[in-house]
Amino acid sequence: MAEVYLGLGSNLGDRERNILEAVKRLGERVKIARLSSLYETEPVGYAAQPWFLNAVCSGETGLSPHSLLDFLKAIEREMGRSEGIRWGPRVIDLDILFYDGLVLSDERLTIPHPRLHERRFVLIPLAEIAPDLVHPLLGLTVAELLARVKDQSEVRLWKEKWLGQGK
Ligand code: ATP
Ligand code: MG
Ligand code: MG
Repeated sequence: MAEVYLGLGSNLGDRERNILEAVKRLGERVKIARLSSLYETEPVGYAAQPWFLNAVCSGETGLSPHSLLDFLKAIEREMGRSEGIRWGPRVIDLDILFYDGLVLSDERLTIPHPRLHERRFVLIPLAEIAPDLVHPLLGLTVAELLARVKDQSEVRLWKEKWLGQGK
């Protein structure tokens, strides 16, 4: 089994429901351990779109990295995500942030997620559930990455207690 950290985001439709639905579906192959609060976040990369809800979770899975990616992409498709503008609006985005201490990069998959350390909307929820987790390439903890990040986009705590999160 591998310990994985996943990022979740939605900025179309009922955002909270979409994230809840994704967490439920993830549970089929990933035993969820910790789930962050929900954060409302300013779009980064392509500003002319609604604000996102973002969260991160940790869990254990028997899936290989590429099978996990296929599983996440299948959930995105089943939930109605269509191909759109890069970094544009989406019903659900599911990204692999970390997979054990693995470092991997090919044409389909890069682990750790190559932009996680540049994004407050990832680092803030991640710091809530795993401040001491060390980035295997950068050699810094999540808390240290957050202290250094240049991104100043807004990230607001939106819902603290949901889905029994915090257990
Ligand atoms: P970003 O990767 O900057 O967060 P995005 O999530 O909007 O952007 P997607 O359209 O969801 O990008 O994914 C584009 C491709 O990124 C996927 O088809 C997948 O092959 C690839 N990818 C590479 N590394 C990862 C990763 N760690 N997690 C998820 N997808 C990844
Ligand atoms: Mg993404
Ligand atoms: Mg993605």
